This record gives sequence, C-alpha cells and structure tokens, in this order.
Amino acid sequence: MALIDSFDRLHDNLRISVTDRCNIRCFYCMPEDNVPFMAREEILSFEEIERFARVAVSLGVRKLRITGGEPLVRKDLPVLVEKLARLPGVEDIGLTTNGVLLAAHAKALYGAGLRRMNVHLDTLDAARFHQITRRDDFARVMAGIDAAQSAGLRLKINAVALKNLCEPDVVPLARFGRERGIEIRYIEFMPLDAQGLWDKGKVLLQDDMLAMLQHEIGPLDEIPDRDPRAPASEYRFRDGIGRVGFISSVSHPFCLNCNRIRLTSDGKIRYCLFAIEETDVKGLLRGGGSEEAIAGAIRQTIRKKWLGHEINSQKFVAPPRPMYSIGG
Ligand code: SAM
Ligand code: SF4
Repeated sequence: MALIDSFDRLHDNLRISVTDRCNIRCFYCMPEDNVPFMAREEILSFEEIERFARVAVSLGVRKLRITGGEPLVRKDLPVLVEKLARLPGVEDIGLTTNGVLLAAHAKALYGAGLRRMNVHLDTLDAARFHQITRRDDFARVMAGIDAAQSAGLRLKINAVALKNLCEPDVVPLARFGRERGIEIRYIEFMPLDAQGLWDKGKVLLQDDMLAMLQHEIGPLDEIPDRDPRAPASEYRFRDGIGRVGFISSVSHPFCLNCNRIRLTSDGKIRYCLFAIEETDVKGLLRGGGSEEAIAGAIRQTIRKKWLGHEINSQKFVAPPRPMYSIGG
C-alpha cells in the first residue's frame, strides 16, 4: 500500500542523510567551531541505510537523494550509491553536495550509477565564498563542477539567498548557469540555522530575485509543464538559453504538494524538514526488527504528518536540529 498521508499526499521521495559532518562551515547552517557532531556509532552503516531504503521502496518510494552534512566526507560513498541505484523500483537517485571533494569523486559516482547532482554554491566571488563558508575552498568547488560535468553528470546549483548579502550573486550565478547549461536554484534562507540567526527580514525573496534577473538578463517565463510536486518554481529565459528555479519555503510554501520523507544519519524518520517530532528506526535496524516493523515505523511517521510548516505564522517553532543534522 502506497504511503498516503491524511491530507491525501503520496510520498515517493526519500532523502537520506549519510552524515552530520561537514568540511566547511556555512554560517546559515553551522556554528563556526565546536560543532556538536553525533558520536560515530550513532551513524547508520551503509547496510542499515540500504535495508531501510529497500523497505521504503517496497512501500512506493521511487526517488532517492543522498545528502548530509556533507555526503562526500563519508568514506566510500560511491559504494552506497551503487547499492541504492541497484534497488529494484528506484527510478531516480540524486546527491546534494558542497562540491569541495567532488573533483576526486565525480567519476566514481558516475560509475556507481549517479547521473545528476545538486552542487551548493552561493557565489562566484572567492572572498564572499570565504565570508559565507569560513573556508577557502572556492577553487575546489569550481574544479568539482568542471569534473562532474566532464564525467557526464547533470548538475543544478543550489544557492542560498540571504538579504543584504547575496544580491550581488543572483545575476552572475544565472549567467554562469546559462553558459554552462546548469540550472541555478535559489533557496530562500530558512529558519534551520544552528545559531538562531534567521528572521524573515533576512530572506532574499523569490519575487525580488526574479525582478533582478528580468531586469539584468531578460524576460523569464514560468515553465508550465513542470512536475506539480517539485518544490521549485522553475522559469526559463525567453531567449531559450538556460533556466532558473526557486525553492521558496518562506514566500511560496509548497507543503500542499510535499511528497518527501527523510532519514537522518542517526536513524530517525522525519515527515518534514521542520518537524519537531521524529520516529526512531535505528533501534529496529540494529535490534533485529523485521521488514514489517520498519514499514510500520515509516507508515506511522506518514500518518502523523502535518499539513505544513507554518513558517509565516506565530505558531512556528524552529525544529530542535539544525539543517546539517537533519539532512538538507
Ligand atoms: N553539504 C551539502 C550541501 O551544502 O549541499 C548537503 C547538505 S546541505 C544541509 C543541503 C542544502 O541545504 C544546501 O545545498 C544548502 O543550499 C541548504 N541550506 C543549508 N542551510 C540552509 C538554510 N538555513 N536555509 C536554506 N537553505 C539552507
Ligand atoms: Fe556544510 Fe552543506 Fe551546511 Fe554548508 S550547507 S555547512 S556545506 S552541510
């Protein structure tokens, strides 16, 4: 039986976090130092992740995405990609990475069955990259993008959009995407940062970015035939060169179409990025739990799923874990 929640939403998309560790320190995600990482023994093994994914696929999940923390800091990640890509029923597998280690791993990831990935890059300016990530890895990310494209991977770029910071990057990133055949996805800053910096006034909004792009580059048309359950609103430039997307959890929430569940690296199932509750499945995976029991934990999570995250209401409560620990 398919995973349908009490609001009639079908869940066929699983995001799997493989680690909470990261090699850079984006200020809107992680603290600068003394990051409270999970103990290594808390993190699921590849075999445990594969078993969970197999059960999820038996319940109708068709799309998988590997994320973190930074998934490429997890040793031998292509081994997991291969295991997941081979699961009968999986139609699509993606990866979200900051790109720092990509040059070394792009070929192996392609060989393992990965065909597309999202690389996180907020700016083409090395100094602003350092300001945002507190690391000097801009050149490595650019080399990673080159290597991934040469390996045959289709890329999108994720760019987090903060007001009074990212305005100078919006247009150059779109131009870069047009040159390289890469869709840029602008992600409105969300209240998931470890330092509690978020407020609505710090979000660079979709409509403001659209206006900048149309003014500086040219008219954009919303893509009419896009998947109605995709979180991004997508646009293409009217001159036929390139497209951009917006993940606008703040200004255009997409909860009514949500088809996602998440597995954290320490084995909790979540029905929403912003959920304040989660269901433990590590106990089942490590304690000899049956496939039915794991399926039961997934169903129980879906049954509890709320209508939406209410970022824009007084009722909103930030989740107890920041982005890197949930898996973005
Ligand atoms: N480390 C990888 C990366 O950066 O792509 C994967 C994990 S990261 C948590 C996943 C995505 O979350 C990133 O692409 C980044 O764009 C996004 N992100 C992180 N913190 C965010 C925040 N506070 N608001 C909006 N997006 C955020
Ligand atoms: Fe690391 Fe990704 Fe968080 Fe940046 S957004 S600190 S790259 S996990």
